[in-house]
Amino acid sequence: MKVTNHKLVGTDNKMVPFVKTPHGGNALSGGKPRFLVIHYTAGESMTGAVNWFTNPAAKASAHLVIGHDGSITQMAPFDKVCWHAGKSRWKNIIGLNSHSVGIEIANWGKLTPSASGGWLSWTGKSIPDDRVMIAAHKDFPGEEHGWEIFEEAQYMATVAAAQAICAEYGIDPSDVVGHDDISPTRKVDPGPAFPMERFRALVFGRSEDEDDDLLYKVQSDTGLNMRTGPGVNFDKVKNLAHNTVVHVIDKTSHGKWWMVAERVNGKDDNTGFVHSHWLQPV
Ligand SMILES: [Zn+2]
Repeated sequence: MKVTNHKLVGTDNKMVPFVKTPHGGNALSGGKPRFLVIHYTAGESMTGAVNWFTNPAAKASAHLVIGHDGSITQMAPFDKVCWHAGKSRWKNIIGLNSHSVGIEIANWGKLTPSASGGWLSWTGKSIPDDRVMIAAHKDFPGEEHGWEIFEEAQYMATVAAAQAICAEYGIDPSDVVGHDDISPTRKVDPGPAFPMERFRALVFGRSEDEDDDLLYKVQSDTGLNMRTGPGVNFDKVKNLAHNTVVHVIDKTSHGKWWMVAERVNGKDDNTGFVHSHWLQPV
């Protein structure tokens, strides 16, 4: 996907369906978004949310609505304000509507237990057990609730759209947030069923199964020697340049000497030992 003239263009090179919302429409502050805010709709379907956001009574809108099957509807260009954030704050900015793109994902969100042992949406609709995960929200530790899971197709469509938007506008990973990050305790979406760290890692191009904690970069102007064994007496495999990213394979067996793999195009390449003094977490 990509962004052209502030509209999302799909992999088929066509603009995604556009249904204009009457809510919002002023230019974003600075003419472009600085933040990307993720929400769930607390509803059943993309169509339901799109209809609601065109309803004069709604007083709410979002730039994108994403359905269970990954289909996307855009409702405002990305350089215009939508009303999705409400009272909110991130970093030094108060009121994110004027500074952000909002993505609403069709999902019921937080569920309540039914008398018969199942789960109900806030409207009373029964949600099958295989669509429910049980977890505490990060703002309310210890309070477990049911949450509707997000479909993989839906999640990956959100990743693809976010990749295109973040690339177009230069949005930082730390500025990709949930509504519950910018309006903590007032809002719980997208909640624990939407893994935000994994989402950021995917949007910014790190592979999904990679443990982020194990990526380090070389901090040495003269580079860092990778060797065949854990010590200076071992042969040099190569000199890793300043800022080379390595994946740490073993950091416990040989003291300060760690076994690492050089990362090339997101994959492990040359493997050897380096002294950990010149490594910093990415
Ligand atoms: Zn929200």
